[in-house]
Amino acid sequence: MSEKSLAARPEIDVRGLHKSFGANEVLKGIDLEINQGEVVCVIGPSGSGKSTLLRCVNLLEEPTKGQVFVGGTELTDPDVDIDAVRRRIGMVFQQFNLFPHLTVTENLTLPQRRVLRRDKAQAAKVAAENLERVGLSEKASAYPASLSGGQQQRVAIARALAMGPEVMLFDEPTSALDPELVGDVLAVMRMLARDGMTMMVVTHEMTFAREVADRVVFMDGGVIVEDGTPEQVIGNPRHERTRHFLSRLL
Ligand code: ADP
Ligand code: MG
Repeated sequence: MSEKSLAARPEIDVRGLHKSFGANEVLKGIDLEINQGEVVCVIGPSGSGKSTLLRCVNLLEEPTKGQVFVGGTELTDPDVDIDAVRRRIGMVFQQFNLFPHLTVTENLTLPQRRVLRRDKAQAAKVAAENLERVGLSEKASAYPASLSGGQQQRVAIARALAMGPEVMLFDEPTSALDPELVGDVLAVMRMLARDGMTMMVVTHEMTFAREVADRVVFMDGGVIVEDGTPEQVIGNPRHERTRHFLSRLL
């Protein structure tokens, strides 16, 4: 493949994606391309299919129809080694899902050792680097229960980063946090965006979306209603459904 076609290939490419749970069609034909280094915020009402879309992008949910490509590899190809592809995709959830019986460092080293087969010293080194990135070096030996929610979420982000992902998916990463703790988590995400990480972020934080996103995607009823710059979608929405959703957030 030539340099040019490599550069032109989207990092995340969702084509004609449908997802049903039984008779309930939750995603009704999603097309979405995200380029390398782009930050895309996905907004929309509860139940519109945002989490399902994100989960289809790393095949935590299996699409009913359509294709998903990450870094040029088709995840929906039945012959793909899905574990190998998943290693390239970091995911951060609303609930931090840290192992409560492990220290912060152990939470970061365990998946590196199990999944990437890194030795103890290498895993510890990468853990320390990523704890420093999220500003939590001093908590290396702490247990999750002794940390604030915001600190736990930053550990969860560091844990995902320690795997060396090409893309990061965030599903409402600040929704479970007390308001005063949201800022520190968003600051870490801003840093990642600045560093050129490709990111797909489901969020209700409109200030973050306005300031950090390259694009904002508004979903409703399992379809993408609007996809554009933050100025277009948040600042000057074209669709009544988008306007209605945004007016209720204010
Ligand atoms: P959002 O994240 O936008 O709030 P979701 O993607 O979580 O929306 O959910 C969209 C719809 O899909 C909801 O009606 C929800 O009940 C349904 N749904 C999501 N996950 C499942 C599942 N595992 N089994 C059955 N229905 C599901
Ligand atoms: Mg959701």
